[in-house]
Amino acid sequence: MDRTIKVEAVGNHFSADSIGLDVYMTNGGTDVFCDVMALAGSSVARTVWQQNLVLHFCDLVRYAIGMGGFDLAELPWTQDHQAEQDFFIVLLDRAIHRTGWEKLHYTPSIDYKLGTFMQMLTTYYASPMIDSGIGDWTIAPKPYLLEMCMRHAIFQGEFGCRLCDLGQQPIDAPFVWEMTSSYTADGTINSETINRQISQIPDELIPRILAIAGNPEPRSVGVWIKPPHLEPVSAIIGKPLDPHAYHWLGKAVA
Ligand SMILES: [Zn+2]
Repeated sequence: MDRTIKVEAVGNHFSADSIGLDVYMTNGGTDVFCDVMALAGSSVARTVWQQNLVLHFCDLVRYAIGMGGFDLAELPWTQDHQAEQDFFIVLLDRAIHRTGWEKLHYTPSIDYKLGTFMQMLTTYYASPMIDSGIGDWTIAPKPYLLEMCMRHAIFQGEFGCRLCDLGQQPIDAPFVWEMTSSYTADGTINSETINRQISQIPDELIPRILAIAGNPEPRSVGVWIKPPHLEPVSAIIGKPLDPHAYHWLGKAVA
């Protein structure tokens, strides 16, 4: 099976069925859309609902290709839906005005889609949505989700900054090294993350760290710092690595 063809054949529909409008984006186009919405929104989201909306774009389709579309009626609009819709419009307008695009290592060709989405959003009338499958956006996001990437000034979200993700961004984008330290709910690697700290590691320290921690697998973008290596690596970076956390030294887009 040719994976390329399969992936290209599906994409995401964003719709407002009640008014018969629809925007279709390929999977690649959806990624670009999410990048520009994250850039447009992370620095201006103030209320819990606004933060949840922006986080939705930060995390969308990172690990569920072709599952990102939604109908506007599905969003968790509350009694405050007028203000919420106004914010969504501001967000889209900031994307249309290319807010933050200087942080990207590519030039999005998405103006037409943003314009069509705006037409749909401004024509639509939101109303409160109880029990949205998307979530409850009256609940404040966990603080680590709202931490800003220091290079890209967008929320880290559940999977880390999407603009840092080498698998998501152009393969020729320049990169830096980062240490990601994650704390999980029950202390095992597969349980829910409850806190996360990310810090950039100077390039000149990397050979010394890898000499201890081992080189990444050829196809991998980083390496776990195993318990016996925590102390020597701490000494190199001049910062303690908590034995109760998992530490991943990986490449991130500059
Ligand atoms: Zn980033």
